[in-house]
Amino acid sequence: MSFAPESFKYGPKSTNTDHFRVFSVARDSFGAFIRLETLILWKKMKWSFSLVVATVAIVTVAVDAVENPRIIVVGAGAAGIAAASRLYQKGFKNITILEASQRLGGRIRTTPFGSGIVEIGAQWCHGEQGNVVYQLASVYRGLLKSSIIADEDAVLIRSSGISVPEAVAERLQAMAEGIIESEDRDTYEGSLGDFFTKKYWQALATPAFKDIPRELAEQFLVYYHNYERGYTAYDSWFEVAASETDSYVEPAGNQDIAWNGKKGFSSILDIVSGNFPGTKNTSLTPVPLSKLIAYGKFVSNIRWKGSADGDVIVTAQDGTTYEADNVIVTVSLGVLKENYKTMFTPALPTVNQKAITGLYFGTVNKIFLLFDAPIPEDFPNTVHLLWYKSDLTALRASPYAWAEAVSTFFRIDNQPNVLMAWMNGAEGRRAEYLRDAPIRDGVLHLLKIFAKNMKFGNVTGLLRSKWSSDRLFRGSYSSRSITTETLNTGARQLGTPVRNAANEPVLLFAGEATNPVHYSTVHGALDSGFREANRLIRFYGA
Ligand SMILES: Cc1cc2nc3c(=O)[nH]c(=O)nc-3n(C[C@H](O)[C@H](O)[C@H](O)COP(=O)(O)OP(=O)(O)OC[C@H]3O[C@@H](n4cnc5c(N)ncnc54)[C@H](O)[C@@H]3O)c2cc1C
Repeated sequence: MSFAPESFKYGPKSTNTDHFRVFSVARDSFGAFIRLETLILWKKMKWSFSLVVATVAIVTVAVDAVENPRIIVVGAGAAGIAAASRLYQKGFKNITILEASQRLGGRIRTTPFGSGIVEIGAQWCHGEQGNVVYQLASVYRGLLKSSIIADEDAVLIRSSGISVPEAVAERLQAMAEGIIESEDRDTYEGSLGDFFTKKYWQALATPAFKDIPRELAEQFLVYYHNYERGYTAYDSWFEVAASETDSYVEPAGNQDIAWNGKKGFSSILDIVSGNFPGTKNTSLTPVPLSKLIAYGKFVSNIRWKGSADGDVIVTAQDGTTYEADNVIVTVSLGVLKENYKTMFTPALPTVNQKAITGLYFGTVNKIFLLFDAPIPEDFPNTVHLLWYKSDLTALRASPYAWAEAVSTFFRIDNQPNVLMAWMNGAEGRRAEYLRDAPIRDGVLHLLKIFAKNMKFGNVTGLLRSKWSSDRLFRGSYSSRSITTETLNTGARQLGTPVRNAANEPVLLFAGEATNPVHYSTVHGALDSGFREANRLIRFYGA
């Protein structure tokens, strides 16, 4: 969830497979008896392992494993780091995080650009109360600050280059937001697009809006749809049910909070793992992430049932295998959609499968342009684009047709020479396959249309996201479609732990898409990681 719409590498990479391998070797050397004995004892006794120590005192390595169940976290994004950190900080030390890429953070991707950094993924902390990102980061004075986009209202500019008068824009925005938040949605049977369009024209027919010309009303409707597409990452609001099983609960407070400092949003990963410099949050034990994370490990299969001793066997695409007692999967819903049929053996229970197919995973992308001069002073902090039909027709016939996907321009905090374009929908996804030069030219073409009278400097750099074509994400964030409602599924179902024959939670799911109230955000991802860590902490009685 974003809008108001590559990267840090943490220390030396290490493959933290040693304790797993050591445990396997120990088990091989001491034989099946001790293996089974030990396993059964700890599973029965959870963390009361004194008897185990007495029984097989010589098997020190195995006893370590008994004390410390082997937990694998798949994915080192916000959810994975939260889950691993909470477990480690509660005394679980036998943790390995398998991450397919060469960096941590996932959809948090703070990247050096221009004179500072930009956020290719998560950018703003949305809200304060009930937002774990805000709770953790606001402890550090000066780390968070209200974004420049919160300083003034967004400006609607038409393709004539003329802004919609502020008072008119405010009334239209307030009316549109009222429709989106309306309680009638809950009982409406049909798409959000149908619901919104109906209510919108009803409102415009009332005396309060009789001054709004039809042409502006139509332009606003097209823009607002594009804006909503960016906010919730779907291609069309006609794909989305008006009523939703899960609905996002907005944490109260400022929705557009930006980050100070070189690490931007990535700071939250340091904070959660107790590694933030000068930490004041002394209650959090520093987690040695560089030791726990094995990079370059694309998990291709998780055998969660079937091994003789109840182990879960995780296989990475490079052929490495790992044994674990519990696995927490935090890969994106996009990755699950693409791989769930081969990624789990046996197949996942229906409840999880239905959620994977039923929940929606859409794409929004960002383009950053760096100029050799500051963005003109008159250019507002946030600009939404409204098209005259004839201009849109001309754009569609031009080499820049893809640029219809751009809904909004934003200035960037602390970077006066950088402009961000926000791209939505199928056109935005297709644009991922274009080279940088036509993308740059397309954005400049838009600026010529919408900021005709402003003089921009020369472009000296371009950076952009490609969330959909990246096999490690396959999109940006989750939302709810009509299929979600038809299948009567949602985030809770996706997050249902999978249990073995002994009813033990062997396969757990975290990640933003598993959060029923804060999906599509970093705070939702963190909460979900903590939730699954807590589930294991309770299970082991730690
Ligand atoms: C463009 C954009 C803008 C956003 N803006 C905001 C914002 O302003 N505020 C906000 O709160 N949120 C925002 N979000 C959403 C936020 O970034 C995500 O909700 C959150 O970061 C998701 O974290 P996660 O841990 O659930 O998943 P991810 O970050 O996707 O982490 C999953 C990890 O698993 C790894 N992985 C994938 N497949 C495998 C595999 N097979 N084996 C091993 N590892 C694998 C991935 O490389 C990744 O590191 C935005 C997202 C995008 C894309």
